[in-house]
Amino acid sequence: MSATKTKVTALPGDGIGPEVMAATMRILEAANAPVEWEMAEGGAEVFKKGIITGVPRETLDSIARNGLALKSPLETPVGYGGKSANVTLRKHFELYANIRPVRELPGITTPYTGRGIDMVIVRENVEDVYAGIEHMQTTTVAQCLKLMTAPGCERIIRAAYELALAEERKKVTTATKANIMKLTEGLMKRVAEMVAPEFASLKSDHIIIDNCAHQLVIKPEAFDVIVTSNMNGDIISDLAAGLVGGLGIAPSSNLGDHAAMFEAVHGSAPDIAGKGLANPTALLSAAIMLLRHIGAFDVAATVEQALFITLAEGKNLTGDLSPRGHGVGTLAYTDKIIANLGRTSNQPSRSYKKLELKTWPKLTAHSEPNARELVGIDVFLETDLGAEELGKALEAIAQDSPFVLNGISNRGVQVYPPNEGQQTFLVDHFASRFMFKKPIPLSASKSEGQPEISYLVQRIGAKFTWMHIEKLQRFDGKDAFERPQGA
Ligand code: NAP
Repeated sequence: MSATKTKVTALPGDGIGPEVMAATMRILEAANAPVEWEMAEGGAEVFKKGIITGVPRETLDSIARNGLALKSPLETPVGYGGKSANVTLRKHFELYANIRPVRELPGITTPYTGRGIDMVIVRENVEDVYAGIEHMQTTTVAQCLKLMTAPGCERIIRAAYELALAEERKKVTTATKANIMKLTEGLMKRVAEMVAPEFASLKSDHIIIDNCAHQLVIKPEAFDVIVTSNMNGDIISDLAAGLVGGLGIAPSSNLGDHAAMFEAVHGSAPDIAGKGLANPTALLSAAIMLLRHIGAFDVAATVEQALFITLAEGKNLTGDLSPRGHGVGTLAYTDKIIANLGRTSNQPSRSYKKLELKTWPKLTAHSEPNARELVGIDVFLETDLGAEELGKALEAIAQDSPFVLNGISNRGVQVYPPNEGQQTFLVDHFASRFMFKKPIPLSASKSEGQPEISYLVQRIGAKFTWMHIEKLQRFDGKDAFERPQGA
């Protein structure tokens, strides 16, 4: 191997994975791509050996060493084994940026053909509700914490802007649900507004995520780069892939400070595994992204052009892209792409520069407001009482304490004091909000107010089952909490 080759960990994975990996490797080898493979295991066979992460230590070490991985689909076993091996890899290497290009491909006819769809969805990959912090708070009420952080928002927003520059794009659209989740989704919007002026050569705008889904269907060609939070991105990236031919041909990359992993979006398609029928387009497209990531732009364009010509000619395509009975196998399709290396299609490849992402410190700096006040607490409790009865009981408990009961809500809607005519369906899970009669300024130790909180919680605990307490603070004179609906 020549010294200029870049080592990449390759995971052939499960089902059709080994077939699409072999096809991709053959095409890259024929194109003289400057990569050298280090083969590694992951997925079903690993779970069967009893490794519950689905990824053995040797694979983690290989990716850590090389900083680059090309990954075929890995099965998540149903009924045995542990977590998804894909999620293990994303979390282990903190691959925070999921990049999903969505581009009209020649020869793949969809209702949108000819509209010029060419966008990238940049999805935050590790925070939000996908952190998986969930609790059953009563036997009937489940909670999932939606954690979004300022550093987490900043790094994904910056990644989106840097990507827009690297791909010579014009606009970055931040898509959030900031109108409803003002603190979590709102944080992403505020961070985007803070970062955008640094990228003055690019247009910036914001769209509410549900309207984004609507506009993606109505006018997808209007989007260039969309950056969004984890769950929003999960949904709209699949929607957008559907506009240009579906998940079967969609590639993605997962970028972090210490590693980058490139993969097909589709799964292991066990029904066609081992039959030589699988379409390697998605993994090949992921490998093209990898080549650009390492700066091998010319080889990436050569391979992409060969793929475009093969697709445009439409004669030697796999079954999933061909009229019934006219498809060819993985081998013949791969041979055709190899034969087309060096030819140029009518659809030019985009112009790319190397994507340079900021490296983040492992521990993000803590930022302290100038002034911090403790103004109250929310106590989440379980009861089968009605709102009125509970309200009276909690008012009695708060009497002679430094607190006053401010209100009670059920699933985010204030139910005490009652709002006339309101028809709220009550479950056995209430949030009771107690405010300090006099807010307590917090010193550097932030320990003030704790005896008062303990006193109140003990009194509540003597009568009710509580499961969660949340401090209500004010940072620099601004409430650091939201009010329930109707309060
Ligand atoms: P899937 O593997 O994507 O397969 C769904 C169907 O799509 C297949 O049955 C096949 O349809 C078609 N298909 C997908 N990729 C194709 C390709 N390259 N060439 C030709 N046809 C293709 O989805 P799934 O059945 O939901 O998942 C199967 C397994 O994959 C599960 O264990 C899941 O956990 C895993 N998975 C892994 C990843 C990943 O590693 N990133 C992602 C998703 C799912 P036909 O019926 O038309 O042949």
